[in-house]
Formats: sequence, structure tokens, C-alpha cells
Amino acid sequence: MELIALRKCLADLGAKPVHERLLLRSWLGGRPLNEYVGHPKTDYPRALREALPFLEKLRNGLVRLRKKRPSSDGTCSMGLVYELQDGRMVETVWLPRGTVCVSTQVGCAVGCLFCQTGKGGLERNLQSLEICAQVVDARREGQPCKRVVLMGMGEALHNLPAVLEAIDLLGGPGFFPHKQITLSTVGSVNLFSRLLEQRVRPSVALSLHSLDPKTRSWLLPKAPEDPPLALIEAADDYARSSGWPIQYQWTLIKGVNDREEDLQHLAQALAKRKGILNLIPMNPVEGSPFEAPEDAACVAFVRRLKRAGVYSSIRKSAGSDVKAACGQLRGKLATS
Ligand code: SF4
Repeated sequence: MELIALRKCLADLGAKPVHERLLLRSWLGGRPLNEYVGHPKTDYPRALREALPFLEKLRNGLVRLRKKRPSSDGTCSMGLVYELQDGRMVETVWLPRGTVCVSTQVGCAVGCLFCQTGKGGLERNLQSLEICAQVVDARREGQPCKRVVLMGMGEALHNLPAVLEAIDLLGGPGFFPHKQITLSTVGSVNLFSRLLEQRVRPSVALSLHSLDPKTRSWLLPKAPEDPPLALIEAADDYARSSGWPIQYQWTLIKGVNDREEDLQHLAQALAKRKGILNLIPMNPVEGSPFEAPEDAACVAFVRRLKRAGVYSSIRKSAGSDVKAACGQLRGKLATS
């Protein structure tokens, strides 16, 4: 269901703005929808009260848990496969320290060469309530939810209206601190201006992977063609206006973007930026010719970047043993 349809339904049931606000609070908090019934000043109109069981059913049916895949890598991560109302599947990952990683699309059209999700193409966009439903389910299950990262299946730019609506819900009635909502994207210069116009400004993880325009378009075939340096400029402006440092994402691939020239370009482009460079050694992807550099090479790479003034770190993805790490999601029950 679209948010606009839910709002109309509430208005038809006699809900005033205050009732809508309270109901969305309960909805996004994963709490019973009747929690504000009986409050002297804000009690719901009768028609709305009577419709609460129907609305509860509607909320709970947006995503249905089909499979849990606990990781045994010691990080307490959990991969979850959800079935949507049309039978399609998406994946969510519960990460350590109360982070929930949600999907924004079924599949993805960008087709990054190092990503399992991109291999199957795009099936459909998620609606904002379906994106939020993954967080709502985590809350209903008692999972700690301190931070949401929109970093699962999908590219936000290709489903921007729904993604922005979901962010507005999460940072509004969902009560997440805005900095604790992280939008992951291949980015575009225009996106950063759009984000500055939003009531809820999320933090951003910008997927760079290469600073050479040709290599980047090869690795991320359907990403916008904005030059990487222009993207970094726009991202840096956003970081300075919003106050949230950018997380520059760099999947480290042996022989592709871990070379001396990559290091030199990164040092020039990212020193003194308001952000951190996350180097993610590539996770294994079925049928991919790429692999991660050896551990020692990754450590040497990051050490030299730090010496060059780039705030950087190596990020090992949690959940790789159950194929729930970065680039491994594919929304299939069969994965194990
Ligand atoms: S890495 Fe992200 S943008 Fe690229 S194909 Fe995978 S899901 Fe899509």
C-alpha cells in the first residue's frame, strides 16, 4: 500500500492530523496500533478505532518472514528473507550494535560487477511502507534498532520518491535520529541537492569504487555518469551542510582498484574531506572473476592512505558466511 493511500484511508475514517501522527508512531514503532486509544485529549474517532484490527493486519502483512539465517562468524548478524504481498522476496540484515540493513528494491538495475544482487537485474521497486516494514518487523521481534542503513538490495536513486518518503517516516514518526539513517547510493550531483531540501537529512554512504570515470562506468554499468570528482565535491558540500560525514565506500578488488595509481588518486581526492573512506575487501560472489587482495595488502593500502591524510579504515562485512554481507544479497529462499 502506498503511504498516500494509507493517509486517505485514515482521513476517511475520521482521523485528524494528530490521530494520523500518533497512529504512524505506533505503526513505525512496531507497537500495537491501539496504544493511544482512550487518551482523553487524542482518542481516535470511533470509525478509526473499529478499523484498527484491519490496519494492524495490513501493517503486519506488508512483509512476511520466510527465513532467518543466523551468522556464525561471531558478529551476531542475521540475514532475513521476507516475502512481499506479491510473492517476491527481499533480504534484510540485522547487524551488530542495533543496525538494521534494509532493501529498497527487489533486485537492482545498476549491475555492479562485484555484486550478486545486480546479476539478476531489477524486479520491482519497494514502496516506502515496505521499506519501513523491514524495520517495523525488527522492532516487533525485539531486535535492538538504533540505526537503519538503506544498503540492502537496490539503488536508492532508481526509487528515489519512495526512498525519501521512507527516510522521512523513519526520521519523523519512526523517531530515528537523522544521523542514524544512512542512505547508500552510487550517487549523483543532483541527489545531494535533493537531500538538502529534505526535512530529514540522512547520512550518506557514497559508493565510489574507482576515481577513473571509465573504470567506474565499467564496474557500475548503470550508475549516473557524473565524474567521480564532481560527486565527491557535491558529497563534501552535503557533509558540511548536514553535519554528517560522508562514508566513501570502496570495494577493494585485486588488480582493479588497489593499484598504486588508485592510492595516489584517492589521496589527492579525499584528504581533508569531511568523511571516512571504508575499504571493503570484496566478498565472494558466485561466478565473479574478481577477488579481494590478500589481508596484508589491504592493511598496507589503508596504512599508506592514512599517512597521506585520508581518514580511512578496512571494513570486513558481517554475515559473509551466510551470504548476507555487502554485495551478496539476492532475495532467494534457496541461499544458505
Ligand atoms: S552494489 Fe548496490 S548498486 Fe551495485 S548492483 Fe549491488 S545493490 Fe545495486
